[in-house]
Amino acid sequence: MTTSRLQDVFTIDFEDWYHGIELDPADWDRLESRIEIGTCRLLDLLDEAQARATFFVLGAAAERAPDLVREIAHRGHEIGTHGYGHEFVYKLGAEGFRADLRRSLEVLSRLVNTPVRGHRAPYFSITRASPWAFDVLQECGITYDSSVFPVHNYRYGIADAPRFAHEVQPGLLELPPSTWRVAGRNVPVAGGAYFRLLPYTLTRFGLRRVQAEGEPVVFYLHPWELDPDHPRLSLPRRVALTHYHNLSTTQARVRKLLAEFDFAPACDVLAKYVCDGRRAVGNTGRFSE
Ligand SMILES: [Zn+2]
Repeated sequence: MTTSRLQDVFTIDFEDWYHGIELDPADWDRLESRIEIGTCRLLDLLDEAQARATFFVLGAAAERAPDLVREIAHRGHEIGTHGYGHEFVYKLGAEGFRADLRRSLEVLSRLVNTPVRGHRAPYFSITRASPWAFDVLQECGITYDSSVFPVHNYRYGIADAPRFAHEVQPGLLELPPSTWRVAGRNVPVAGGAYFRLLPYTLTRFGLRRVQAEGEPVVFYLHPWELDPDHPRLSLPRRVALTHYHNLSTTQARVRKLLAEFDFAPACDVLAKYVCDGRRAVGNTGRFSE
């Protein structure tokens, strides 16, 4: 078995600033679309670092910005799915999840030529309350998922789920966002609000610990996190704290991160993972039982 150093995984949940703050979807069309601003900044930062990423594309966002999705694929990045309507998977139920996922895959199939194999649930919402989700993903041709966050959060997480890539059931890999194991707890250092709330040096230290364990970092971000001027709505305090904190520093932080780590799309890193025989088959079972 060879265990050469793996590249790290950079992921983007491709959605506009209003998709992840639990507004009524009926209001979406009335809100200013700004997805191009943050996405173009991200694409340029990735090019500058000669890095490639995985974009988990929300179907509803792709319908409003189809040319941007084509551009992402054209610039060499992997296209995965983030579902269609940005709903909590565990609230949709199996039937609703299947319909939402299929709708997103239909939208994406019209925009990109390669089949979509990767999935990330909105709000990381595959939890113990949605044990049927993995079967639905496989029915729809998904071969890897990156939705199970091994932390405790008020909206998501399975705190004792495995921290690294593993086969959650035959033919389906799970690629959890990165955590740093400290004093028996998993600290999320994977990106998003955590990236903006923690000092950069702490994030880097946590991610280096992941690498020291011989595992790839799995990082995530949203385009609106590079668009500090997007409209500000009055939101519940907890949501506002994570959504608006430190947006003005994100771009510089991402540039530094991209210079210090060697990022690749999830599909490439997972192919190497499997090829190296690192796949932890059957050692975790399903989370639901
Ligand atoms: Zn999202």
